[in-house]
Amino acid sequence: MRSRVFVFLFTAVALMACVSPAQAARPQTNVILILADDLGYGDVGYHGCRDVPTPHIDSLARDGVRFTSGYAPHPFCSPTRAALLTGRYQHRFGHENNPPWAPDNDEIGLPVDQVTLPELLRKAGYATGIIGKWHLGGAPCFHPRKRGFTDFYGFLGGGHMYLPGRKGAAEYNAPLQHNGRTFEESGYLTDVFSREAVRFVEAHEDQPFFLYLSYNAVHGPLQATARYLERFQSIPDERRRTYAAMLSAMDDGIGLLLERLRDLKLEESTLIFFMSDNGGPPAANASSNEPLRGTKGQVFEGGIRVPFLARWKGHLSPGRKFQAPVSGMDLFPTMLAACGVEIPKTLPLDGVNLLPHLRGDQSGTPHERLFWRVGGGSGWAVREGKWKCVRPPDGARLLFDVENDLSEQTDLADARPEVVERLTKAYEDWNTANVAPRWEGIRTGRNRSR
Ligand code: CA
Repeated sequence: MRSRVFVFLFTAVALMACVSPAQAARPQTNVILILADDLGYGDVGYHGCRDVPTPHIDSLARDGVRFTSGYAPHPFCSPTRAALLTGRYQHRFGHENNPPWAPDNDEIGLPVDQVTLPELLRKAGYATGIIGKWHLGGAPCFHPRKRGFTDFYGFLGGGHMYLPGRKGAAEYNAPLQHNGRTFEESGYLTDVFSREAVRFVEAHEDQPFFLYLSYNAVHGPLQATARYLERFQSIPDERRRTYAAMLSAMDDGIGLLLERLRDLKLEESTLIFFMSDNGGPPAANASSNEPLRGTKGQVFEGGIRVPFLARWKGHLSPGRKFQAPVSGMDLFPTMLAACGVEIPKTLPLDGVNLLPHLRGDQSGTPHERLFWRVGGGSGWAVREGKWKCVRPPDGARLLFDVENDLSEQTDLADARPEVVERLTKAYEDWNTANVAPRWEGIRTGRNRSR
């Protein structure tokens, strides 16, 4: 009997030795962030867009959660991306403006002392890939592969030519890169990024991965191929027709990625977020923010309320509408929680893990308030419950009930001065923990259309 116990114990110890603690605790959830660039609130089918079908984006809404008050952390590109990758208000570390294209300047980019989402995932054994637009600094110290990504296929600036041979500003003609190699690409850039996203998933199907598919579509320049343009002959306006073609290409690409995830049986092990980095700039790319007021660059809803979705089959109820305000900076803690990766306690996050709210384990709203600041404080906005206080740059404070006045048409500032004062005080308190912009940008928060 004693020898049998010994054999049992020996066998158990031997089996345990074959499975190291690291393997036993190995995370199995994959995470994907699909980020659209300058996509208008009104330009997805599930928000009522009529002239551009977006069946694959709509499928994420059908099979996942729609965040009806889903906000970009900033009304333009780079600051939103800084918040996405740090889980913090970007004003905490001065990343309030777009970085001018300065590939030799090691002062202009996502500050290197900020901990990034891919850094934490890579440490946990994840393959971490970014495909597409970076826009967090062009100098070598800011390179995506120095900021936590194991794979980079894309470009460093704020935009790029979509078609080979097209000439634009230096930033938009900077070479494409793949892990240290630069190359010319002969395909249509949106198709190329979709192809590479599928390849990344195929290459890492047996290992946990984080894919940041950072399309530059549907940001300008307005360029599309005949294949997509032919779908929209019925749209008379040439600019809107080209925009529609660009959006359709991105939606097709998302469809390819979703199809591959299904084929590889990764749907239930992969949490996907989809959002736009800011509202549409209709004057620049013929996008539409209907029925919202304002555009990219502004802190009216049209600049910051964006298409915002999550899908995690088998984990999140399909077809749900989540009404409480959420922010792109919430993706950081939400994705880490889904992956079972611990967040260092010293990290001063502003984002909130949404999973307990989405699963119904936690009542209440994830954020008591959300804040936006542009131009170093010349403009700002606060959302608290149904209220939104908007101070356009150097203008008077306005107050809207955005639950009942989505289009921000009726200013209630005179009727409810006590709410204006409360939200102003809340903004000022929040702002004490912010710093001045580290550099001046192409945009300074003024209400420019591009
Ligand atoms: Ca953008």
